[in-house]
Amino acid sequence: MTTAASNHPTGTASANPHKVSHISVFGEAIEFFDEAASNLELDPNIKRILTHPSRQVIISIPFQRDNGDFDVYTGYRVQYSFARGPAKGGVRYHPDVTLDEVTALAFWMTWKCAVVDLPFGGGKGGVTCDPRVLSKNELERLTRRYAAEIMEVIGPDKDVPAPDVGTTPQIMAWIMDTVSMHNRGYTPGVVTGKPLNVGGSRGRVEATGRGVMIAIQSALEKMGKKLQGQRVVIQGFGNVGSISALLLREHGAKIVGISDQYVGLQNPAGIDVESAIAYINAPENPRRSLEGFPGCDTLSNQQLLELPCDILVPAAIENQLTADNARKIKAQIIAEGANGPTTPAADGLFSQAGVTVIPDILANAGGVTVSYFEWVQDRMGYYWREREVNERLGEVLRENFDAVWNLAQNHKVTLRTAAYMLAIQRVVDSLTTRGIYA
Ligand code: GLU
Repeated sequence: MTTAASNHPTGTASANPHKVSHISVFGEAIEFFDEAASNLELDPNIKRILTHPSRQVIISIPFQRDNGDFDVYTGYRVQYSFARGPAKGGVRYHPDVTLDEVTALAFWMTWKCAVVDLPFGGGKGGVTCDPRVLSKNELERLTRRYAAEIMEVIGPDKDVPAPDVGTTPQIMAWIMDTVSMHNRGYTPGVVTGKPLNVGGSRGRVEATGRGVMIAIQSALEKMGKKLQGQRVVIQGFGNVGSISALLLREHGAKIVGISDQYVGLQNPAGIDVESAIAYINAPENPRRSLEGFPGCDTLSNQQLLELPCDILVPAAIENQLTADNARKIKAQIIAEGANGPTTPAADGLFSQAGVTVIPDILANAGGVTVSYFEWVQDRMGYYWREREVNERLGEVLRENFDAVWNLAQNHKVTLRTAAYMLAIQRVVDSLTTRGIYA
């Protein structure tokens, strides 16, 4: 295990996160922080601390393939901040995972947890792999070895992983079991997003999508509009995209475009989302692809993003809305279900064009909020009803959405800058109250 409290946060480029020479996800993410920090007139000493991750762990994970051969994959856990509590954030299994990306994701988790006022810092993990080509047994062996390798740095009071792109409640169960076996004691609070029968929370699977819907409803309310009849396009049909689509439709919106990594689909009369979810889950569709779903025209990813609609929900991965396509986007509201879907350049163009962007750290904070509820329930050993979970989620998100909205109005800044300002101020307050151990 390499544990690096590195002075070059991307681990790949210059010592100054602002001057990375290649396109760095973390380098770009810092631009959003900078904008908010200058509005807050943040002390440069504090700023220096907050633009570096606390700890970056890199591990090699040997695991045995079903044919007996050994493969070695690279895994990461980045703990960006502990100022407000244990680090918190998902684990991503994807072929494009790098230290730079995981660092950016851990950075975003820090501000996400703070903007909804959870008692957590920020973290993220990842393994560079394609989970779609691994058998269930291979996935289990890989996960258990990954969990064993990061065991010293995770735990209910240290760092609490959760699902992200490419990981599932089953994978969280294996992490929990591996840690519990080594601890010689049931430790459900080490990870969230678990299945219900091993200490998961009711409402967790739907929580990120529900949060996206609540964020959109809150924004529309401020604008004096209703969700009823709004045309919505959703990019990505994983946990976040599919459940956002389902709930938005249930509450009166018309879903006119959806997509996954294989295909885009449109139907201006509205897509039957329930049938689309049943379609990807059918046993005869092992790739879980939307390809061939009836009643829709197919289109490319770019065409999907540029469809005529009122609301666009990017719910896939980073860097989808860029300087190249931003001017062609028709939506007046963008709700970021994914982490980091908009580049800083595109964000500037949306702001000039008067497009309301509900930033990732607010729009997709529903997942980690119910992860927090799960962690609380695990520690109490007392589990809440789904209605209680959803009510509390609604309260947390609406209250903090209002705070961000008001800050944006008062300072005449975008919702993104306001969300960062609120989050940074909360982290700074905890950091300075604790004092800097230097
Ligand atoms: N991976 C999710 C996110 O990006 C959830 C994190 C969590 O629940 O800790 O917000």
